[in-house]
Amino acid sequence: MSDLDHTLTNLDALVAYGLMDEASAEACGSVADTYAVAVTAEMAEVIKGGSPGVAAQFLPTANELQAHPAELSDPIGDEAHSPVAGIVHRHRDRVLFKIVGACPVYCRFCFRREMVGPGLGKTLTAPEIDAALDYIAAHTEVREVIFTGGDPLVLSARRIREIGTKVGAVPHIDVLRWHSRVPVVDPTRITDDLVEALVVAGKATFIAIHANHPDEFTPAARSACRRLIANGITLLSQSVLLHGVNDASVVLERLMRTFVGLGINPYYLHHGDLAPGTAHFRVPIARGLHLVGELRRRVSGLCQPVYVLDLPGGFAKVPLTDHAVREIGAGQYEIDDGCGQTHIY
Ligand SMILES: *Cc1c(COP(=O)(O)O)cnc(C)c1O
Ligand code: SF4
Repeated sequence: MSDLDHTLTNLDALVAYGLMDEASAEACGSVADTYAVAVTAEMAEVIKGGSPGVAAQFLPTANELQAHPAELSDPIGDEAHSPVAGIVHRHRDRVLFKIVGACPVYCRFCFRREMVGPGLGKTLTAPEIDAALDYIAAHTEVREVIFTGGDPLVLSARRIREIGTKVGAVPHIDVLRWHSRVPVVDPTRITDDLVEALVVAGKATFIAIHANHPDEFTPAARSACRRLIANGITLLSQSVLLHGVNDASVVLERLMRTFVGLGINPYYLHHGDLAPGTAHFRVPIARGLHLVGELRRRVSGLCQPVYVLDLPGGFAKVPLTDHAVREIGAGQYEIDDGCGQTHIY
């Protein structure tokens, strides 16, 4: 269907393919030098077909140059919890394993935007991977390994099989969870070989699919999701609440119904993190609570993600509910973290 067969990785390519006009590209100034640009063929077709909700996620704008004083380069405080390169161990029973710094697309709202991209994105070396595996093997309290990055499914099927097999061989690991946008934005990568590589004998494999707008689910994306599920992989959803993308009840409702219709279990709806140059995507928490309340009223219990905020400073995810959040001033909130602490946000 697509006549494009590669990812567009700079402003000139976006203009040449008709996704942006010259004037908007010029207005971006240095944005593309600061933050990586990539739009896959699959998403380029969706944008070309007319989807403002998808275009806003991937096409750079001058808004990204607007820094806000509260924004942080490590907005969720991962660095303090990293015992060895690539591992973040903040919760007793699970670790993040950041194996690659590249992504198939570069989202304009990314909370790791200062750490992902060609050259920036750190791909672990073989000795670093071995050290991370040693850490996992030595920590018997860890039951689940969460592969992330970047996007770990940009790796070849061979590399994924290699790492999955090694992690799967650790007796106390029950669950391998991959966080990825690949099945949706670059479904051609979901080959039979890759699907096979993801399945590890005797262990459960989950993929948390990151998608924010129902238009992302092209026929090829749907087919990739169905093939993963047919091979015994459980799919979860992960979305970010974004102004101009999905901050409307009808869109959120369609997104959740799309997930559930494909057999993807709604998992998290993230409140946007304080990443640099993302103020134009931010939705007030009060609005987020309202939208989640609308979902509860309008759609099935299967369609209810947990609305969460990653508290700045490494305090982990806190579910945002009417009970846990109090607005104490214009855009200022007091949030209970469920562990007896209150935070000002
Ligand atoms: C989000 C996150 C996890 C995974 O948390 P779940 O609630 O199990 O999805 C694990 N470790 C860190 C550091 C995280 O930020
Ligand atoms: S795929 Fe994830 S890590 Fe990569 S740019 Fe998008 S949000 Fe950031």
